[in-house]
Order: sequence, then C-alpha cells, then structure tokens
Amino acid sequence: MANGNGHPRILAFIGGTLESVTEIHRLDLPLPWELGQVNAYLVPGAAGWTLVDCGMTTPECFAALDMQLQQAGVAWRDIKTLLLTHMHPDHMGLAPKVLELSGAQLAMHRREFALLEETVEATEQRREPDEALTLAHTPLELQTKVIAAFTDVRRSFVRLTPDVLLEGGERWGDAEVVWTPGHSPGHVCLHFDDGALLTGDHLLENITPNISWVPGEDALGDFIESLKRVAELDCDTLYPSHGLPFTGHREWATQTIAHHHERCDEIVTALRLHPRTAHELVSILWPRRLSAFHYRFAVYEVLAHLECLRNLSQVVLEPDRTWTSTID
Ligand SMILES: [Zn+2]
Ligand SMILES: [Zn+2]
Repeated sequence: MANGNGHPRILAFIGGTLESVTEIHRLDLPLPWELGQVNAYLVPGAAGWTLVDCGMTTPECFAALDMQLQQAGVAWRDIKTLLLTHMHPDHMGLAPKVLELSGAQLAMHRREFALLEETVEATEQRREPDEALTLAHTPLELQTKVIAAFTDVRRSFVRLTPDVLLEGGERWGDAEVVWTPGHSPGHVCLHFDDGALLTGDHLLENITPNISWVPGEDALGDFIESLKRVAELDCDTLYPSHGLPFTGHREWATQTIAHHHERCDEIVTALRLHPRTAHELVSILWPRRLSAFHYRFAVYEVLAHLECLRNLSQVVLEPDRTWTSTID
C-alpha cells in the first residue's frame, strides 16, 4: 500500500481489528554513486520517531531528506533516535547534522562503533598504506591510485558518540534488533512483529552486497551465518537500504550462499593450478580492467573469500603472500 507520497506503508491487522499499526516511511535519497540512491526509514514508536540511517554528506541528499521529512509530517525535533544499520558513508554521512537538528539519541551496534573509531583514527593518523593492499601484494603504483581514489570516502567517516550501543537481540519499539555481521562487522537489521524486516545492506534485491575483508575476521563466514539467521525469521516484506521493498528472504539467502560457494570454488580451482597472491586472483575473477575504485572492492572481496577458505583449512597463506590450496 502506498500513501500520497508514494512511500510504502505497512498496516498490521490483528484478529480482524486494527490493534497495532506499524507505519514505515521509506525516504528515497540520492547518491552520487553507481547505486544511485539509498533509503532511510522513519519508524514510529511510543517514544517518538526512529530514523534508520540518514544518507550521505551531500547537499542533494540533505535537501531530499529534509523535504521528505516535511512530506511525512515529521519535524526534525520529532526524531528521537537515529539508528544506524552500519557505518558506511551512504548510511551515516549526515548523522552529525541530523543529531544536531533533532537532538536525537544515536544508536548503533557496539562492533560498528569500534570499527568507526578505528577507521577515523587511521585516517587522522594517515596510516598508509592500506593493510589489505599490502597483504594482497598489490603493486605499489596501483596502491597509490587506490588510496587516492578513496581519499574522499575516507574523509566522510566522522567520529560519532553513540548514546546506545546495540548488541543484537534487544527490543526496539515493535521490532527486535538482529545482529547480522558480514557486510560490516556490526551491521544490524530490524525485525518487526508484523513481519517487516529492515534489511540495511544485508539483503538487497538485485545486488550481492559486497563483503569486505576485516583484519583478523572471517567476514564471509560471518555473512553466511547471518544469512542463515535471517532465513530462520518469519518475514514478509523486506525493506532494503537500496532499491524497492521485495519479498523472498529465504530464497535470497539460499541463492546468495550458493553464489559465494561458487566463488570460493573458483578460487580453490585457480590455486590448485598455481599459488597466487590475492592481487593475481582479482585479475582471474574479474578478467577486465578495473578502475582503482572498483579494484579496491574486488581485492577486499577476494581477501574475504580467502580468509573464509583459510578458516575451513582449504587454503594456506605463504610467507611470500601467495595462497596455496590444501586440496589435491
Ligand atoms: Zn554498506
Ligand atoms: Zn549501502
């Protein structure tokens, strides 16, 4: 069902009478990236509105957020909580401004806050080169290009002081917070009692969310576990951070797990022929020229797969930064 502004609404009817109403407003915000847009969601609650994510730091994004709040009849001061699904710049960029205008409390997962602190510190101390690029044995010239391509993105991570650190499993109004590490270590979804699921970037209809290597973690293994966790939930409509609402979370989880298993198989097959660095694997898995920007996503994705395979004892990292298969 859509209201006058074209925002989907969820109406929960219990036993034929209207006992509780969850009305979620989808705010469609423009992004200067290929993705095109990001969704923020306004969720009502007894303690006022919760804004889930807030878009990135561009004047266009702020203007769209401001206008769509007005259309929804929600004043800045009516927002009592800003809840971040995760700390990526397209989701949290406007947080300082939103917090200032609304006076809202900030809620995010404990692990995501820790990662944000680390990221901001690394940028402030200009800690370069990138640990992942070193591990991948990326040629120095390309490392410089990748670091340059991400300068603006890195600057958009800003220090935040959460009032509430989420763990997952707690109640949030009519919803339960579901911790879904993988796309980011402290990513959360909101599972509403009426079956709606705010998925963040954990489930996106036509896109496989990128899984980024995090030092010392098995991000892909975590992601697959998080998909299994979500597949066990009773959900109807899925409200993603990018794109339109969709359905079918169990099929989506099954297909996405299969996709990553295939990718792991491709990597193991390549390593059986020859020990290779993560950088070399990128050109096998993406046999076309990648921009420095896209190369970074690719190399982090490859490292996340290698880390998962290492956890399963299927590959080994050698001192010269090549990876070998343990399977004959
Ligand atoms: Zn993200
Ligand atoms: Zn996103």
